[in-house]
Amino acid sequence: YPESEAEMGSVMEAIQAQDLVAIAYGGGTSVVGHLQVPESPRPVLSVSLERMRRMLEIDPECGLASFEAGIRGAELEAALRPRGLTLGHYPQSFDYSTLGGWVATRSSGQQSLYFGRIEELFAGGRVLTPGGPLELPPFPASAAGPDLRQLFLGSEGRMGILTRAVVRIRPLPERDELHGVFFPNWEAAVDCARELVAAGLPLSMIRMSNPEETRTSLLLAGHPRRIGLLERYLQVRGLRQENRCMGLVGLTGGHRMVRAGRRSAWRILSRHGGLVLGQAMGRAWGKNRFLAPYLRNTLWELGYGVDTLETALTWDRVEAGVEAIEEAIREALAPWEERVLVFSHISHVYRSGSSTYTTFLFRLVDSPQDLMERWQAMKRAASLAILGSGGTISHQHGVGVDHKGYLGPEKGVVGLGILRGIFSGLDPRGRFNPGKLLD
Ligand SMILES: Cc1cc2nc3c(=O)[nH]c(=O)nc-3n(C[C@H](O)[C@H](O)[C@H](O)COP(=O)(O)OP(=O)(O)OC[C@H]3O[C@@H](n4cnc5c(N)ncnc54)[C@H](O)[C@@H]3O)c2cc1C
Repeated sequence: YPESEAEMGSVMEAIQAQDLVAIAYGGGTSVVGHLQVPESPRPVLSVSLERMRRMLEIDPECGLASFEAGIRGAELEAALRPRGLTLGHYPQSFDYSTLGGWVATRSSGQQSLYFGRIEELFAGGRVLTPGGPLELPPFPASAAGPDLRQLFLGSEGRMGILTRAVVRIRPLPERDELHGVFFPNWEAAVDCARELVAAGLPLSMIRMSNPEETRTSLLLAGHPRRIGLLERYLQVRGLRQENRCMGLVGLTGGHRMVRAGRRSAWRILSRHGGLVLGQAMGRAWGKNRFLAPYLRNTLWELGYGVDTLETALTWDRVEAGVEAIEEAIREALAPWEERVLVFSHISHVYRSGSSTYTTFLFRLVDSPQDLMERWQAMKRAASLAILGSGGTISHQHGVGVDHKGYLGPEKGVVGLGILRGIFSGLDPRGRFNPGKLLD
């Protein structure tokens, strides 16, 4: 638990002098095994950033702020907001995940469409590497060879420890709206998302659930009377229960921009048969935006396991990709004659494509080994379906240990060789998070 850069420097010296293995620990919210302790004859040290959570400097004129890397999302926003500023990075793990963890895993916040992913927000900082400190100045842009900031982003603790980070901040937007919408079917929802993002509007989020996720979300929403009324309204408007898709559209920015953007967005929506239900649904989602994952514990107590996985695909592959991933997960438990509930949404959209996010629920069994085999079968089938569909093995969670076996086809032999060369050149004894990202 070093408390300053000087103390972190002493820890680095001890790691080298005593030939330790070291794992930087941010908020501990990794979902792909980044923090798994490797089997090693050398002692393994967990280096927690928990006591390095201070704000160091704010420069509103340049739109930059500097923080110690262990600061958590909620703390970082709490430091900026009273000054009328924001970073706008809201991963669902916002309450616990840290700035250093975001950078090391290339994380993506829920409103990335407006504020940008962490690679757009990370302007520079300082990394203590096995070869010495690496300064990353916050140049607005640079043509001085490959950008070392981009190299550190996503390095998953393999290049050393980020002690401080400079991020690009901005004034709090005047308006930040989130509207609930419905579509007659999945194809219309996906097509509309693609057209919305291409229109260049002040959007901060487009999230569209497929029919199975829509059904499940409405069932779990509680408030049976209100949901009953909504169901009847949708039926009257001709949105059939088996096909309809629920969505959220976020508009963010200045008053006038948002007003004009909203008008254009609703025109596009209506061309795709979309219905706008207003901000009440958006507010309900907003209240629980960081809480849904706690359902996992309740489900576990009820005898069900739940996991999620994600990828990003170009628009021409989104629908087929989601279908292939879902089918692969369902089929994976066929040898056990078990059924799996699988559903998906798209939530981070880009001009060229979208992320897709799939949730699957399965029954628990008494034997931990049997349960692990079942989970592995689903994970393997889904990962192969992702690769087969032309997707990346991760849009936001990173590689860790769970995905490293699938990185080869994506990076290629030369690409993996480049990464291996960088890590072994910087850390020849393999002391920093060995076995994560690649072997
Ligand atoms: C419920 C839940 C929801 C989530 N939602 C999202 C989401 O919406 N978007 C998203 O992108 N991810 C999400 N995640 C995944 C996770 O929160 C992110 O990967 C996050 O960036 C990890 O941050 P952390 O501080 O917890 O890092 P940790 O889990 O502590 O570490 C992750 C990796 O980063 C390295 N690391 C951490 N700090 C440093 C540092 N200072 N220097 C060098 N390396 C470091 C670690 O060594 C490790 O390899 C979610 C996870 C959970 C559990």
